[in-house]
Amino acid sequence: MVYVGVVGYGTIGKRIADAILKQDDMKLVGIAKTKPDYEAYIATSKGMNIYTIPNKIKLFEEKGIKVKGVIEDLVTKCDVIIDATPASIGMRNKDQYYLKYNTKVIFQGGEKAEVADVSFVAQANYEEAIGKRFIRVVSCNTTGISRIVAAFRDNGLEIDKIRVFIIRRGADPKESGKGPINDILLNPPTLPSHHAFDVKTVIPNIDILTMAIAVPETLMHLHMVYIMFKKPISREHVMDILYKTPRIITLRADMGFKSIAQVVEWARDIGRTRYDVPENIIFEESVTVQDKELFLFMAIHQESIVVPENIDAIRASLNMLPKWSSIRKTDASLGLVQEGKKYG
Ligand code: NAD
Repeated sequence: MVYVGVVGYGTIGKRIADAILKQDDMKLVGIAKTKPDYEAYIATSKGMNIYTIPNKIKLFEEKGIKVKGVIEDLVTKCDVIIDATPASIGMRNKDQYYLKYNTKVIFQGGEKAEVADVSFVAQANYEEAIGKRFIRVVSCNTTGISRIVAAFRDNGLEIDKIRVFIIRRGADPKESGKGPINDILLNPPTLPSHHAFDVKTVIPNIDILTMAIAVPETLMHLHMVYIMFKKPISREHVMDILYKTPRIITLRADMGFKSIAQVVEWARDIGRTRYDVPENIIFEESVTVQDKELFLFMAIHQESIVVPENIDAIRASLNMLPKWSSIRKTDASLGLVQEGKKYG
């Protein structure tokens, strides 16, 4: 049994904590939070132990929330810490807490790549992360792009270059103070966007360019993907790879999937907690092949896509299971759509 702690219990951290509770080879020791808010009550109601920073203990106690200790106590009790704090706090925590102990740490994509020994997407480079002390699970868009690149690479389709045009959600649903609310932001105004560099931290030898805009919605990101392969390809071959690759689902327009809102509705209807969609969603009819070129629409759920990656990163860091055994175990435990299953 592996003992895991989650530092930072926000959008990503709370999902990872729930996912750890579903693993039979991991035990959630506790979560670390800085605010005694409703999320702290929910964590307590799920039986999670709460840790915080020293000057916040009193605040929690005033609200009747029992605190088990400070972050350092949590770190000393765990084999692995998941740091899901906001960008750059992870690096600070590394200096302040993690370097003092032997605990392994999984950071998130908001941190600079330098925070870790390896940047990670399970399907792309699980083996590189085996035994590593510090692992960074890359951001949502980078995870989605790396998954499809790895799928083609591992099935003999050599990519010449990939270009991804990303329509980013303006904010997460809970981020009421963020925007845009009536604009389309160049995000960033310079090219390429950071996603291209980030994919290269996982798959170094790839010719990739990305550009991104942010729009007024909170549901998912939408990617317009263009890939040029080294040799002519067939649509059947591409579809076969997409169908059989875990963590990729194809949804059909003629079954009603013509927008990201409909993907979210599907997730609600099948009972996904928080309407999470950790799989890449490929809109099937958009998959178009012309000789060596491939075009497609792909939706990425920013709040949940990195959750299975974090579970696999824990197993890789402690060399608990080989790559595909970990991926399949994670997917089964979290109820992801199993490979080979066509939707619609
Ligand atoms: P968030 O703001 O929703 O959650 C972060 C939580 O950490 C908050 O509850 C905050 O109060 C808490 N926190 C702040 N300082 C802390 C400290 N010192 N100790 C303990 N807790 C502390 O952020 P998020 O969206 O979950 O992002 C977390 C990380 O995941 C970032 O690196 C981000 O880039 C990455 N990420 C986010 C998304 C997304 O779309 N939300 C997707 C992929 C990756």
